[in-house]
Amino acid sequence: MGNVPESAKYFTAVREIVSRPNFDADFIVTLENFASLVGEYQLDEDVACQLDRQGTLCRREHRHGWVAKAHAGAEAMIGGVCAAKYFNANHAFSTERNRIRRENNIRDYLTRLRVMVDDPAFPSLIQRERSRLSFLRESVDAMREELPAGIVRRIEDMVRTGNNSVVIEYRYEEKQDDGRIEYSWQAQQIASLVGVSPWNQSATGLLFTALREIRETLPHVELGESAGERRLKKWLDTLSGLQTCTSQIDELTEDWNRFIDPENLQKLWLLTNEHSHRIKLVQFAQRALTSKSLSETEARRILDDLRAEIRSRNLGRDFRSI
Ligand SMILES: [Zn+2]
Repeated sequence: MGNVPESAKYFTAVREIVSRPNFDADFIVTLENFASLVGEYQLDEDVACQLDRQGTLCRREHRHGWVAKAHAGAEAMIGGVCAAKYFNANHAFSTERNRIRRENNIRDYLTRLRVMVDDPAFPSLIQRERSRLSFLRESVDAMREELPAGIVRRIEDMVRTGNNSVVIEYRYEEKQDDGRIEYSWQAQQIASLVGVSPWNQSATGLLFTALREIRETLPHVELGESAGERRLKKWLDTLSGLQTCTSQIDELTEDWNRFIDPENLQKLWLLTNEHSHRIKLVQFAQRALTSKSLSETEARRILDDLRAEIRSRNLGRDFRSI
């Protein structure tokens, strides 16, 4: 057998190893007869280690290790733990181990990159995510224009703090010993606003950046070993990011649909004490529900009903937004 090593292998089944013509289950691998590595293995059953232990086979059972080749050509399995313990300091072994890892990585990266780069639909997949994201951002921006600034701030606070509860204060009155009535305000969570995540502008911004990077990387990917392990890995990481972007945009879209649900928008007026804003928010929610505009008088009537409903939840007590 020559000394020029064949390209690295990665084994996942014992038969792939023991069926090799030069495999010898009785061979004892020593630092002296070790020539090169054939490949790495990760098995789902135990195999016996063939490293030298004072002239006999080590036989330690293991599942991860290396197929070694001796100068005379015989091949044998050496366990990953034993190899690290007894062979790592050996230059021939560590050089071979690095070569096997590098070659296997390169092959793996190339296989996975090829799936994306050779897919004629890949550029349109990137474009599709960009369009979905643009649509989301435009929808949020349009609503941001329409809502009172104080409400937008409240929603953005919810995104930032992760606390999306809608809290109001009910007014309690207590008769004092001297006959005076004292008032106190007690907070109570009355609802939660759902689907606020699309209001997070920096998250959307990061997604735009990631999609742009994917689009700009695609034409530069070279599908060859000569590109080197590190560059292939970087390209792979970048292009695989499309999947993450897609699922994040799925989530944002789902959240946006929950946010614009009329029942959710119906809670917005509870975030302000400003009467004109409340009217405006009731009109806004009603338009989402019926696609019809509501006069101010009609909106006031609905708001009166909504307020009465909130009061009735706590023995008719007055309340205020906070
Ligand atoms: Zn061993």
